[in-house]
Amino acid sequence: RVKERGRGSYGFYQPQMNANLLSRMQMEHAMRQALGLDRMAVHYQPQVNMATGRITGAEALIRWTDPEFGAVSPGQFIPLAEESGYIVTLGAWVMEQAVREAAVWMHSGMPIMISVNVSALEFRQPDFVDRITRLLAVHQLPPTLLELELTETILLQDAQEMEQRLRVLAGLGIGLAIDDFGTGYSSLAYLKKLPIHKLKIDQSFVRGLPDDDGDRAIVSAIISMGRAMHIEVVAEGVETETQQAVLLQMQCDHYQGFLCAPGLPAQEFRAMLARPLPLNARGRRSSV
Ligand code: C2E
Ligand code: MG
Ligand code: MG
Ligand code: MG
Repeated sequence: RVKERGRGSYGFYQPQMNANLLSRMQMEHAMRQALGLDRMAVHYQPQVNMATGRITGAEALIRWTDPEFGAVSPGQFIPLAEESGYIVTLGAWVMEQAVREAAVWMHSGMPIMISVNVSALEFRQPDFVDRITRLLAVHQLPPTLLELELTETILLQDAQEMEQRLRVLAGLGIGLAIDDFGTGYSSLAYLKKLPIHKLKIDQSFVRGLPDDDGDRAIVSAIISMGRAMHIEVVAEGVETETQQAVLLQMQCDHYQGFLCAPGLPAQEFRAMLARPLPLNARGRRSSV
């Protein structure tokens, strides 16, 4: 059989194999070892109350530094982990780190919300809810301090079953946010029928603020809709004071972005939480 494939082609090392595919395989191999080798970390990006400037929560973002590949962005390896199913292992690990860290914040007198990204495959695991419930109990974190960031695609698959699961989670007091809102394929109908607490406006719409008419219209429409439906709205990817000012004017509830901070290692984030609010924070924020 090997002979049939021709001379010089054994296993994976066929000369015609494209470099991309090869590096994907290397990457997947490295990714599966990274957890055990302590090369993964969870960073925390602040979510800021637009009107007060206070940090009200943080999003957990996975980080991977490989000796060969360097810092590999989640945009590269999360899709790979999703395709191979490894995301279930990775996601469970992130959830555990994040819940543990949020319990530290709470027990040091800073009870802020932790938001964790959840992939469709993780969400579909039959023991997903049980695992989270146990984790919260072990770390004594109130469910109201945990928020799950779901994508619109999750709401499309197995609609009945997922709807049931969302209700159970919301019933426990866990927050449910729609990530990258506006970029998926789902209809708006689910907002009416599902227990969604928060919309995260995708950064692709925030980027064009304030000059792009289309972006301005979309962002302002999402904020108005959120307000009318009692769903909180967070703007993602806020990088400039001008964007911040426009969002404040549109009465967006929260923002997240490099303007405040990128994802920070746990220790740096704790230090940031402990620092008092800069005196100019509000003034700057309300000066449009
Ligand atoms: P996301 O959940 O939409 O996370 C926001 C992304 O925007 C993060 O990229 C963050 O670093 C980046 N970001 C935040 N503020 C700014 C800004 O002001 N400007 C710009 N240009 N970017 C900003 P990151 O960490 O590279 O993650 C990319 C995506 O990977 C995430 O998008 C999420 O979908 C996924 N991801 C990250 N961590 C996890 C995880 O633990 N589990 C799962 N399932 N997915 C994850
Ligand atoms: Mg997210
Ligand atoms: Mg997002
Ligand atoms: Mg995203």
